[in-house]
Amino acid sequence: METLLLPATTENITAAAQLIQRGEVVGFPTETVYGLGADGMNAEAVQKIFAAKERPADNPLILHIAEREELSAIVKEVTPVALALTRAFWPGPLTVLLPAKPHIPQAVHPGLDTVTVRMPSHPIANVLIRLAGCPLAAPSANRSGRPSPTCAKDVMADMEGRIPMILDGGVCGVGVESTVVDCTGSVPKILRPGGVTPEMIESVWGNVEVDETALTPLAEGAVAASPGMRHRHYAPKARLLVVEGPLEPQLKRMAARYDEEAAKGGVPVLVLAKSWIPCMGRRRCLPWGDVGDSAAMAESLFSLLREIDHIHATLGICQGIEPHGLGLAVMNRLLRAAAHNVEYV
Ligand code: AMP
Ligand code: MG
Repeated sequence: METLLLPATTENITAAAQLIQRGEVVGFPTETVYGLGADGMNAEAVQKIFAAKERPADNPLILHIAEREELSAIVKEVTPVALALTRAFWPGPLTVLLPAKPHIPQAVHPGLDTVTVRMPSHPIANVLIRLAGCPLAAPSANRSGRPSPTCAKDVMADMEGRIPMILDGGVCGVGVESTVVDCTGSVPKILRPGGVTPEMIESVWGNVEVDETALTPLAEGAVAASPGMRHRHYAPKARLLVVEGPLEPQLKRMAARYDEEAAKGGVPVLVLAKSWIPCMGRRRCLPWGDVGDSAAMAESLFSLLREIDHIHATLGICQGIEPHGLGLAVMNRLLRAAAHNVEYV
């Protein structure tokens, strides 16, 4: 199949919407990462997403809507928590988990009673959903296990020949996926950290829980509240090491691990805040935002993980950051990309 990579003009968005109505899958931008969208009410179309991504069949999809009123057609009950959070953060990078109505295809939420729903703020995503006239089932547009794409060319790298069209809407602003929040109880519970931070949710609801798998690996045999957390994800082909701890010993350890890899004939690269690059001498570095600017770090994380492979590095050594604010989502993705290969100094 030929994959067209087209600018997101009105004409091309209309063509993409028609493909979706015919049961096809298209790549499109959102404010978080690029998505692979199909008609969420058409089980056969949804299956094509799993095929294009080679996504494990038990990993559920988020339904994307264009109007907040559409939520009540998908879920059995909009709980007070869901109402408060969607009022505060929609449109935006918040995904609510609620009990599904029976007509939602099982392919969207395999083996689960719940379904997840989000209303993106990206204008192209919004227009595409409106024109398609259905909720879009849309996971991130990467091949399963790879870093999520934050620009159209990264979607092309993973999806060429697998889907008919990708809409190019530039670079995604948030850079990490939405926050998945279980809204079934009386306290919101973050199953996957993302663009809406725990602090932001707390400021609306007063309290918030964060699933323990946000920063630690899922215990062997345990059931994941968020099935995607079970699978290896976000990873470049190179090995990754995350170094956490106070600045000086952290930078020293990063440099030492770099030198060991180079001495073994490997190709190491350091990923760290740009202010510290001069401390690293002639070692190869990829600049990762400014110190303390977790928004910039979130925005560039996935493209840096892909860059590690573009330069054919064998080992990426990444500076861990504080898991507060957006830093929680950043560290969640980074630790999973590194398969929890972490050193604390
Ligand atoms: P992606 O769209 O690729 O960012 O993946 C969506 C993620 O949201 C999945 O991997 C799950 O972890 C989570 N998710 C979606 N639907 C559900 C659900 N019904 N129950 C629990 N987690 C879900
Ligand atoms: Mg994904």
